[in-house]
Amino acid sequence: MILRRQTREVRIGDVMVGGNSPITVQSMTNTDTRDVEATVAQIHALEKAGCELIRVAVLDLEAAVALSRIRAAISIPLIADIHFDHRLAVAAMENGAQAIRINPGNIGGPAKLARVVAAAKVHQVPIRVGVNSGSIEKDLLKVHGYPSPENPTALIESALRNVRLLEDLGFYEIKISIKSSDTLTTVSGYQALARKTDYPLHLGVTEAGGLIAGTVKSSVALGILLYQGIGDTFRISLTRDPVEEIRVGFELLRSLKIRERGPELISCPTCGRTRIDLFTLAEAVERFVQTMKKPIKVAVMGCVVNGPGEAKEADIGVAGGNGVGIIFKKGKIYRKVKEEELLTVFLQELKQIEEEVIVSSE
Ligand code: SF4
Repeated sequence: MILRRQTREVRIGDVMVGGNSPITVQSMTNTDTRDVEATVAQIHALEKAGCELIRVAVLDLEAAVALSRIRAAISIPLIADIHFDHRLAVAAMENGAQAIRINPGNIGGPAKLARVVAAAKVHQVPIRVGVNSGSIEKDLLKVHGYPSPENPTALIESALRNVRLLEDLGFYEIKISIKSSDTLTTVSGYQALARKTDYPLHLGVTEAGGLIAGTVKSSVALGILLYQGIGDTFRISLTRDPVEEIRVGFELLRSLKIRERGPELISCPTCGRTRIDLFTLAEAVERFVQTMKKPIKVAVMGCVVNGPGEAKEADIGVAGGNGVGIIFKKGKIYRKVKEEELLTVFLQELKQIEEEVIVSSE
């Protein structure tokens, strides 16, 4: 059983982060924030996939002002990501940002930081202190060296120094992230940070890579940390459509048995016994189950001989044969279907299960 680290809690809109709140899956848009229509469309797609917090880059005043229209059109809390310019942080909050991510040390000095914190207090907006290996102060690098798996101290000291800047202004609605593009530095860094603070932690591996490399790197680092009870919200960073980040995020939580969202799809790798085009079938089923909400187990198997037995734990499954396929439930054959009708009939069965859920949950 995973024992979650005890942390304070911060509120971002109607989503709580830390404490006993569910670990949230978040993402970041890659549209131009000033393009409200494109940004809202992307956030809607992310909401549909299950995204619970969304961050947008605020590069100029026009982007900060656009936040009010974006926020009005979406239903998940909106976080503004700001670098260097305190005026953008203040403007973002005035225009509806429900949290901001800054690096307090590079926002322009104590007076400007004080203005940001004053606005955060007025608007009741938490601040994520986000430091990464590239933003560490020179004096810390000199003393502790560049962060490595064996010695991530500079990263942690940088985060804590930035946190203190906020605390000195009487501000405590804080979450922290320390990003590295190195998997093991991410693990050892967050482990050490978790021992030193009780603020909620935002996990992530920065510049993780494309779909495969990024998924593996993030899943290894975040999987270890979450299994150890460390982490209250996270983003899987991928060089990809951000919707994929959400899918990977929920699969990660599911594989750790932390949270479930929608069906789990299991499929066999195929072998010499496969007599149908299983890849196409599995892809079509995968697309469909992504639209479902009920956390059932769905199997797509390559042969009727071993498929139902190998996927006995599946609530419903399909297995291909030689001209004829079967649909099975909990390992027992339920229907035999001609191969050319297999996908259509199977999707109808899934649709029926989803509708049963809607009726029974009303
Ligand atoms: S289910 Fe059948 S086709 Fe798939 S791996 Fe097992 S034996 Fe091979």
